[in-house]
Amino acid sequence: MTGIGTDFLKRTVEFRPNSRNLFFHILTACNLKCAHCYINPSQHGNVTLDETTIKRWLRLFSLTKGSDAIRSAEDTNVIFLGGEPTLNPALAQGIKEARRLGYASVTVDTNGFLFHDILAKITPEEVDYFSFSLDGSVPETNDIIRGKGTFEVCTRGIRSAVELGFGVSSIFTASSVNIHDLPNMPHLLKDLGVTRFFIQVIGIRGNSAMDGGESLQLARDAWESVVPETAMEAAKLGMICHYPKVFLDREETFECAGLVAENYFVFPNGRVYTCPLCEDYPLHAYEIRDGRLVRRPPITEAELYTLKIPEGCVMNRLLHPGNIIYEKGGEPRYKIACCMLKEEIVLTE
Ligand code: SF4
Ligand code: SF4
Repeated sequence: MTGIGTDFLKRTVEFRPNSRNLFFHILTACNLKCAHCYINPSQHGNVTLDETTIKRWLRLFSLTKGSDAIRSAEDTNVIFLGGEPTLNPALAQGIKEARRLGYASVTVDTNGFLFHDILAKITPEEVDYFSFSLDGSVPETNDIIRGKGTFEVCTRGIRSAVELGFGVSSIFTASSVNIHDLPNMPHLLKDLGVTRFFIQVIGIRGNSAMDGGESLQLARDAWESVVPETAMEAAKLGMICHYPKVFLDREETFECAGLVAENYFVFPNGRVYTCPLCEDYPLHAYEIRDGRLVRRPPITEAELYTLKIPEGCVMNRLLHPGNIIYEKGGEPRYKIACCMLKEEIVLTE
């Protein structure tokens, strides 16, 4: 943990041995078509999970018996995702069930459209955070990426959630299209009443991997010159800010979340991944079959994690080798960190 000046704490959020995250995609449908969307129906299906299945799968990941992976709900954070999760009419019942089962925290990631009058169907006691995706401080930036009118809808949704007393966070996906606007986000979010700010970097998956997708990627210089400073500004304004570490110096320790943490990315077709970079491929380590979580036979993502390479993250090396620069002698200049490794900046006074 490192102090910056006297007022801030910057720390790498290490993978906590007793903390688990259940990223629960309850459908893949969405009303938007964001430029960087990673949803891939050819891999994850078009199913919208019904209330019974959502509850059953929440119970599955909260049990000691019946699961060979998750030990207890109180150590597990559940994040409802889509597609757009509020398009699923069973979301409210899913939230209530997650709370009833005793999950450590309940979060809903939303594009801000808040379908099915979701804010009226649950209470702030039942959800820890609504996390709104906003990719610019003005419509001119945000709407190029997320679609016409989305800035207006999303900021209206944030205001409604704050007024009703819900915890509200915001996610900014940084790419070459919007990085210039990132420094303007903290003040906007502060004014809107947002308390946690997550900055994430574009991944080359889904649409962004298609024609022209390379142009969305950020160079290391652009990332490092803008992101830490913006995170500090957000912290000064009283928000907790997280952003991915992305690059590690050669002497820094590399850890793969697939080996040292428990993250489950559950899709409506029953696939369960433990690494988000694998989601475009049938490499999932588990699947839900006949109501049970079943480990799949090799080769899956789990075997790939065990490869030790000087570049750090194995999946990054396989999927995005262009992210790595090599010295003349063939050694990588730096390592790529696990995409689940975050820096956290928070005001300490
Ligand atoms: S809101 Fe989310 S799921 Fe929908 S298109 Fe955008 S990134 Fe994809
Ligand atoms: S992103 Fe890389 S380091 Fe992280 S879990 Fe996946 S393979 Fe492991």
